[in-house]
Amino acid sequence: MNTADSERLGAALEQMGIQPVEKAAEADVIVLNSCVVRQGAEDKVASNLAWMAPLKKDKPERIIALMGCMVGPKTDALAKRFPYVDVFMRPQQFDPLLEIVGERTGVDWEGCVGPLTPVRPDITCHVPIIHGCDLMCTFCIIPYRRGRQVSRSIAEIALEVETLVSKGVKEVTLLGQTVDAYGYDLPDKPNLADLFARLDQIDGIERIRFLTSHPKFMTQEIIQAVADVPKVCEHINLPVQAGDDEILDEMRRQYSRQDYIDLVGRIREAMPEVALNTDIIVGFPGETEEQFQQTLDLLAVLKLDKVHCAAYSTRPGTIASRTMSDTVPEAEKTKRRQRVDLQQEQIQTEINAKLVGQYVEILVEGRQRGKWQGRTRSHKLVFFEDEAYHLGNLVQVKIDRSSPWSLQGTLAVRAKLLNPISSGTNRGED
Ligand code: SF4
Repeated sequence: MNTADSERLGAALEQMGIQPVEKAAEADVIVLNSCVVRQGAEDKVASNLAWMAPLKKDKPERIIALMGCMVGPKTDALAKRFPYVDVFMRPQQFDPLLEIVGERTGVDWEGCVGPLTPVRPDITCHVPIIHGCDLMCTFCIIPYRRGRQVSRSIAEIALEVETLVSKGVKEVTLLGQTVDAYGYDLPDKPNLADLFARLDQIDGIERIRFLTSHPKFMTQEIIQAVADVPKVCEHINLPVQAGDDEILDEMRRQYSRQDYIDLVGRIREAMPEVALNTDIIVGFPGETEEQFQQTLDLLAVLKLDKVHCAAYSTRPGTIASRTMSDTVPEAEKTKRRQRVDLQQEQIQTEINAKLVGQYVEILVEGRQRGKWQGRTRSHKLVFFEDEAYHLGNLVQVKIDRSSPWSLQGTLAVRAKLLNPISSGTNRGED
């Protein structure tokens, strides 16, 4: 979501005539977009801000802005801590910066800034479809920073996707904190399946992804739409957060361990090839070894494709920070995270090894260390070598080798155009 916000602010600044530069030291305007989902992320923002102090001293007229979830309703404490920051902006509230830039450059920003689509998007692009979240998971700061759920209309999203296609985008990832809750706050109450159906009709878009789903909102209608709508990829990020019912209650996740198991079962029944990712928090206040073991067991049974595991970190202002003690020692949290990662590495090794010898369709997103790289519909990272130019193409690759994190393959045929590889004439370049 922060990447999407940054791209949109970048578009607004470019519409005002501001051009990007390679190095911060060369910039007249520097915006740091912040994440405070965990203490580690917040510390990183603070150290980046400290690093900007000499840049401001060196050129006092340089505008330094702090944006994102670190900025709450009151900025007094932040302004005191970082006196050289000129402007503080809450997530998606670009106006204060645009106003200052407008004043400095003499540009009427309200007249200049139109729809905010990224100026030079990659082959794949994020499209926020919901802002905010209506849930109140006890560990989470996001509803306090991004507010209540506000869905964008289907027409507005479709127009944005059409614009992105005209700029070369082939894949969009629809973003929301609870993306499967899309639409219930809109007057005609469309849902995510309705949005899929509309976007699937847009010529030029090859793939549609969506992120992040909440188990509570994942209806059978949405599951069936993912299975049936051709451009929607069979790839679902479905955070479970914990495998123990008591911890799930404490987190206010609104589902049980069994609900989650049943949901995964229904999704796999509709799409046997689906890739399922999840998020886990270990060391939640009061989590015992037995309760942690429940999480580990759940992951061992479900064998999901990817697990993002984080150690619990108290976020001031959340329900958990006000009502629970952070009882699990940091060293124990680290051990639990390592145990999840180790088990998951083994699971991913097995899952990916099954793909060796198979042909998979890749959307080529770029080059790295002399190889083309792209992703399967199930979001697995694949590398292959070829002299021809493939950026933005859908190609067929035969998988030769696997690791827990990626796959290596050989180009078989250009899937979309069905051109044998020998007919390629464009030369590749990094
Ligand atoms: S669903 Fe829960 S974890 Fe996700 S953004 Fe909303 S409150 Fe936070």
